[in-house]
Amino acid sequence: MTPVSHKPRDIDVDMKAREVRILWTDNHRSTYSFDLLRDQCPCAVCDEERKKAAEEPLFIRPQVKGELLPDRPAELVGQYAIQFFWKDGHNSGIYSFDYLRELDEREK
Ligand SMILES: [Zn+2]
Repeated sequence: MTPVSHKPRDIDVDMKAREVRILWTDNHRSTYSFDLLRDQCPCAVCDEERKKAAEEPLFIRPQVKGELLPDRPAELVGQYAIQFFWKDGHNSGIYSFDYLRELDEREK
């Protein structure tokens, strides 16, 4: 396992704005829309889907994708990750804090 280099001080899952905001211990702030998080789910199945989608020119985006379960949107996984519970039943993606930080740098 790679050592954790990024730690959040605060994680705000905003169900109304449909975004997750993280304040990191180095005072960096990141904002992720639910749609982005769902699109970038790090599980093996979604990884495979993204690879396929990249090869095919036709891509059909579902109307509703990034919706979290209202009564159980997210949970921490130990000290290193967060897990999201999507409305469509998908929840196998474990978003490590390093991955989220990388995602934030990538989107800029
Ligand atoms: Zn996934």
